Amino acid sequence: MVDKKLLDMLACPRCKGGIREKGMFILCKSCDLAFPVLDDVPDMIIEEAWPLKKAEKKKFKHDLKL
Ligand SMILES: [Zn+2]
Repeated sequence: MVDKKLLDMLACPRCKGGIREKGMFILCKSCDLAFPVLDDVPDMIIEEAWPLKKAEKKKFKHDLKL
């Protein structure tokens, strides 16, 4: 789990929109990006984010508990 105070401070690096935690990822609903969380630290790098629509079809879907 990502620290809640940290979560509140974070925004999507692409659209500056709100994000939420889901499974092992941080999701931005606006641009459909999923950022991986490593050791409770969100990796908010756009280049390392997963496009949600594509990711839903893979094993990733299980990790995300969609
Ligand atoms: Zn976004």
